[in-house]
Amino acid sequence: MVFDVIIRGGTVIDGTEAPPVQADIGIAGERITTVGDIPSSASDSTQTIDATGLHVSPGFIDVHSHADAALLNDGQHASGIRQGVTTEIISPDGLTLAPLSAENYRMYSWYLSGILGLPPEGLDMSSIEAARKNYHHKTSCNVATFAGHGPIRLEAAGMNDVPLTGSKLDVAKNLLRESLEQGAVGLATGLSYYPNSWSDTDELCALMEVTKEFDRPLSIHLRNHNKDRAFGDGGVPEAIEIARRTGTKLHFEHFRTDASSAGRVDELMAPIDKAKSEGVDITLETYPYPVGSSFPQAFFPGYFHEGGPEEMMKTLNDEDRRAELIDRMSEISYTDPHGNVWTHINSNKNKHLEGWLFDDVAKEWGVSVQEMMTRMMAEESLACGMRVAPPENVHVWRQIEEDIMQLMVRPDYMVGSDSIPVGGMPHPRAHGCFARMIGRLRRRYNYPVEQVVQRMTQNPAERFGLTDRGVIATGKFADLVIFDEQNINDRSSFEDPKVHPEGVPFVIVNGKLAVENEKVTGVLAGQAIP
Ligand SMILES: [Zn+2]
Repeated sequence: MVFDVIIRGGTVIDGTEAPPVQADIGIAGERITTVGDIPSSASDSTQTIDATGLHVSPGFIDVHSHADAALLNDGQHASGIRQGVTTEIISPDGLTLAPLSAENYRMYSWYLSGILGLPPEGLDMSSIEAARKNYHHKTSCNVATFAGHGPIRLEAAGMNDVPLTGSKLDVAKNLLRESLEQGAVGLATGLSYYPNSWSDTDELCALMEVTKEFDRPLSIHLRNHNKDRAFGDGGVPEAIEIARRTGTKLHFEHFRTDASSAGRVDELMAPIDKAKSEGVDITLETYPYPVGSSFPQAFFPGYFHEGGPEEMMKTLNDEDRRAELIDRMSEISYTDPHGNVWTHINSNKNKHLEGWLFDDVAKEWGVSVQEMMTRMMAEESLACGMRVAPPENVHVWRQIEEDIMQLMVRPDYMVGSDSIPVGGMPHPRAHGCFARMIGRLRRRYNYPVEQVVQRMTQNPAERFGLTDRGVIATGKFADLVIFDEQNINDRSSFEDPKVHPEGVPFVIVNGKLAVENEKVTGVLAGQAIP
């Protein structure tokens, strides 16, 4: 047998939750061709990796990655690949850059620049097929994408608060069908984001009728806004109702306890388990941190977003309209803007304020927090992002982490980093999510390594139909991560977030070394999958 790469002497975790075994792995081309003993005479390989004392598992699959634009700007994507993430599933929350006409690409990439950063101008993103070409063999990791509710709604109805019915709904359904035919792994929506939030439950059900033809799931960020349009006031009841009515699979994005519900996992999961017992097919994901990250326009009610960035800028730059906007922030029940931190600020003028608390910037400028936010958005032309400050109470923080690891025991859970790899002070999950979970948290709460690995590999591969990935076996793609089970750790923190983890010496994507001795190799062997 001829191999291109041989990994010798490692402890293999195959991704199925089977106990680890000692085995060599032989790779030829893009695939694993042998798992077992490889005699030392088989030395034709161009490369041998000594994995003695290390664990070898399938590459991690991130089911919630906001690297849509970051991957287009820098295909090396060290923040993900250095953690062992060999596949990124982009466009969660339905916030993505395809399928969009040239004009809508210009408009929506501007609108989303606070989350995604600014992508290259003028790319052909007119279909999922066109978008896939912009990633294929241009990134270190594989890239899979959802069909985004945002772009589909934009193409059908523009950035307007109108219902999708009649011919508009037909346009949306046809685009969704085309996207799924071209390889989208499901429909994703974020019902607190625009234009998605202008939908009602009936619209989502109509779209899911299409998704059902392809047996693909709905990945959902629950509704906080426009609750009056939703079955059961939005949230979990609306999501379950969509799956019930349409008989489709449901995937809950970033579902965990928070400071107000820490320690109450059973209560959190009760409605999910009830629906499951009644036959609804549900999976879920989380990241191992107590707080999230977003962009500031998430604090403002729906009317502000109408017409898109050009109209929003007019509002932000007009004193009366800005005062009205601040006044109407109370219409929505989103997190209090106090206690947030700027993660990403585009201009040199304000860049030094990255990492500052909103309250401190407001004090510095001598204005209210709300006024500071609107001014920053105006000065930055919307290209600014934020995260929540972690709880001051360490006990609460630890309890949420304990809850998260308890959730990961469930066979229906997987890991979505929700990474926003943009700016100078991003949420630490972008560089640390996977390493944190399989490193310090797994060891702190003493969970079996093969169980945590399964949630990061086989589980997402099966749920999102990533063919021949997520397990180690003969014939599968050689997406592999080699790590030091005792010493793998995240090193990114809220104070110093852009630090790569330790204990992940080798990462292989489609048979090619993407990380070697804890350094990125520059090889861009990632594919647009599935
Ligand atoms: Zn997200």
